[in-house]
Amino acid sequence: MKKKFFLIIFTFCLLTETQAQISQHQEDSLNIRKLFDLSLMDGKSYSWLDYLSNKIGGRLSGSQQAADAVQYTKGELEKLGLNKVWLQPVMVPKWTRGFAEHAYIVSADGSTKTVHISALGGSVATPIQGLKGKVLEVKGIEDLAHYGKEQIEGKLVFFNRPMRPDLIHTFEAYGGCVDQRYSGAEEAAKYGALGVIVRSLSHKIDYVPHTGSMSYGELADNRKIPAAAISTADADYLSSLLKLDAGTEFYYKLNSKNFPDVQSHNVIGEITGSEFPEEIIVVGAHLDSWDLGDGAHDDGAGVVQSMEVLRLFQRAGIQPKRTLRVVLFMNEENGLRGGNEYAKVAAQNNEDHIFALESDAGGFTPRGFSIDATQKQFDQILKWKEHFKPYLIHYFEKGGSGADIGPLKNGKVVLAGLRPDSQRYFDYHHADTDTFEAVNKRELELGAATMAALVYFVDKYGFTPAEDNQ
Ligand SMILES: [Zn+2]
Repeated sequence: MKKKFFLIIFTFCLLTETQAQISQHQEDSLNIRKLFDLSLMDGKSYSWLDYLSNKIGGRLSGSQQAADAVQYTKGELEKLGLNKVWLQPVMVPKWTRGFAEHAYIVSADGSTKTVHISALGGSVATPIQGLKGKVLEVKGIEDLAHYGKEQIEGKLVFFNRPMRPDLIHTFEAYGGCVDQRYSGAEEAAKYGALGVIVRSLSHKIDYVPHTGSMSYGELADNRKIPAAAISTADADYLSSLLKLDAGTEFYYKLNSKNFPDVQSHNVIGEITGSEFPEEIIVVGAHLDSWDLGDGAHDDGAGVVQSMEVLRLFQRAGIQPKRTLRVVLFMNEENGLRGGNEYAKVAAQNNEDHIFALESDAGGFTPRGFSIDATQKQFDQILKWKEHFKPYLIHYFEKGGSGADIGPLKNGKVVLAGLRPDSQRYFDYHHADTDTFEAVNKRELELGAATMAALVYFVDKYGFTPAEDNQ
């Protein structure tokens, strides 16, 4: 009799537990549906992006537009009625392009053809009359040692390694070429080059130059040489001319200038957690952009998606248990000062960040997330994956997260990056084609909801502390 009684109690408990799990599952699924519905039917991300792209435009660190973007996003976050909105001061580099660049190729017969170039961010200007010289084409920094000072000195070095088209993850193709742009000038200068021209980092063959950051490393001022990106179509043309005549010359004039650092800000807003306010979840993106386009994909999309995550929680009536913070980082593109400053202040204040999610890979159709976590934390995230299935979100992989949240890494915090479809990203990246029109409303909104959904699970269930799991 007693045995039977216990068996009934046991079965009853088991049933209640299963029922609780089912209703929990249903509740989660309904809440995720709500977040997606609100983003798609009553979203704000697209109109925010419209303003950021069309009313403010390119937001290079230290520019008036960057300052305007700080004020605008702060104002919009205040309108949401968050618990706290503030500006975090940070000193940033200031570099200006000046008048538009000018460049042409001089063929053996003396005829010239204008080509499309763009100074790389941080590059020194050419002499006022421009710079003209013979060209040495190389496929990468490693070629410089092969040619040596003898063949490089007094010439313009033309870095022309294209992005690999066979790599499905286009960021890998980018990563395989970006050293030419970032360190090409520094390395070529060591061999006495006059200047460098770098093939634009894009898969597309067109006449659009793509800028980006570069560094002279420790080079003294008098050894810094001008560096510009050339469009892919012009790069192919120059390369074909050089094959016909190694004496082909190149002329370019850059009008850029470096200034002392200026004061700027990260923009931060938060909904304070109801149960564990000391546990912080960050959603973020970088507010600055290059000056050529409007920075709509890079990273206006990420900015408005991150802001939208907090708004979606409010509109869905979901009060986060943990503190949900949006951080719009300043100066990712040419310095990462905002990301470094945020992490520094967080450490000084002993803040407990449990999760940070960045969107900085374009406003395209979301596929999933790249997650930087321990195996146990990653396994926890995988348990939530089935909830993403109805929205065609399937990519959950261990990997890198985002540049701005990277400095938060401390062995405990889980970092993640939203991973949208990346096939078209480098058509627009750092170029004047990166405009509002290049962003699709639905794709942008799906990205915001996808971020909100992952944040929902992290907020609700938290993570097993990292020290308990390796
Ligand atoms: Zn970016």
